[in-house]
Amino acid sequence: MTATAIITGITGQDGAYLTALLLQKNYRVVGLVRSSSHANIKGLEHLHIKDKVEIIECDLTDLSQVMSIASEYQPSEIYNLAAQSSVSLSFKQPIGTITFNIISVLNLLETIRMVAPTCKFYQASSSEVFGDATLPIRETSYIQPISPYSISKASAHWITKNYRDSYGLFSCSGFLFNHESYLRNESFFVKKVILQAIKIKKGFAETLEVGNIDIKRDFGWAPKYVEAMYLMLQQETAADYLICSNRSISLRSVIEYIFMYLDVSIDRLRINKKLFRPTDILDIYGDNTKAREELGWQYDISFYDVLTILIEEELANDN
Ligand code: NAP
Repeated sequence: MTATAIITGITGQDGAYLTALLLQKNYRVVGLVRSSSHANIKGLEHLHIKDKVEIIECDLTDLSQVMSIASEYQPSEIYNLAAQSSVSLSFKQPIGTITFNIISVLNLLETIRMVAPTCKFYQASSSEVFGDATLPIRETSYIQPISPYSISKASAHWITKNYRDSYGLFSCSGFLFNHESYLRNESFFVKKVILQAIKIKKGFAETLEVGNIDIKRDFGWAPKYVEAMYLMLQQETAADYLICSNRSISLRSVIEYIFMYLDVSIDRLRINKKLFRPTDILDIYGDNTKAREELGWQYDISFYDVLTILIEEELANDN
C-alpha cells in the first residue's frame, strides 16, 4: 500500500525538495497551504512535481481543520515545515511568529494523539535555539534562544519532546543549521547576496547593503538536508538530531566568494549598522556525528562548492 505523507510548508524551500524525495520513494504527498488561491508553487514547478502532489488549504491554527484532514488522509508521516522562518522578521513580528510557530505544532501533535496515533511526526527545529552556546553544538547542548523566532522553535521542540515522552508518540525534532538552495526565499542572506551581485554585474544595481557580516554560520545544501528529515522518520525509535556541516564560515567570506566568482568589485559592498539585529549569534557550528552514525546520513560538501552550484543555477535561470 502507498504510504501517505502530509507536508506543511510545502510551498517553502524544504517543502519542495522533501516532496521530490518522497515522490521518488513512491509516497502519496499531501501538501497543506494557508491559501490555495495564493499558494506559491514556484518551487514545485521548478522541480516539475506540481501535478504529482495534492494541495489542500488548511489553517494550522484551527485544530478542527487539522483533525479533519488527518482523519480523511490517514497519513503515516507528517513533516511540519510551516513556520514564520525568518529570524529578522521575528523581531518585527514577535507575537505572530511565536503564536503561529507554537500553536501549529500543538494542533498537529494533538491531532496525531487523537486521530492517528501511529503517525510519525517530524518537527522542523533550528540551530538558532542554541543561541551563543559552547561550540560545537551537540544534541546535548543547552537550549538558550535569543530571538522571538528561536523562542518559538525552542517551545515547539519541547512540545514535540513532551508528546513523545508523555503520550508515546513518534515525534522528533531535527535541529537544522542554515541550508540554502536555488529555492531559498529571496529575503535570506545567501540568495539575496547572489541576486544583488548578479544585478551589480549586469549594471542594474550599484551596491550591496548588508548588516553585521562578521558573524559566522554553519551552512549546508538543502536537497541533502531534507534526506535527514526522511531518515529520522524511518527509525525504530524517535530521537532528535542535529543536521549540519560541522564548520562555520563568516558572512563576509560568503560575500567575497560570490563577488570573486562573478567578478564584482568588493568596493560595491556597504555595511549599514541599521541592519544589525538587536541580538545575534556570533558564531555557530554543530557536530553531526549522531546523524551520521544513527541515521546513516552523509554530508561532505564544502559550502564554497554549494555557492558555486547556487550561482550557476541562478545564472542559468536568470531571464
Ligand atoms: P521557508 O522557505 O520560509 O518556508 C516556510 C513555509 O512555511 C512556507 O511554505 C510558508 O507558506 C509556510 N508558512 C509561513 N507562515 C505560515 C503561516 N502563518 N501559516 C501557514 N504556513 C505558513 O522555510 P524553509 O527554508 O523551507 O524551512 C522549513 C522549516 O525549517 C521552517 O520551519 C524553518 O523555520 C525551518 N528551518 C529552516 C532552516 C533553513 O536554513 N532553511 C534552518 C533551520 C530551520 P507560504 O508560502 O504561504 O508563505
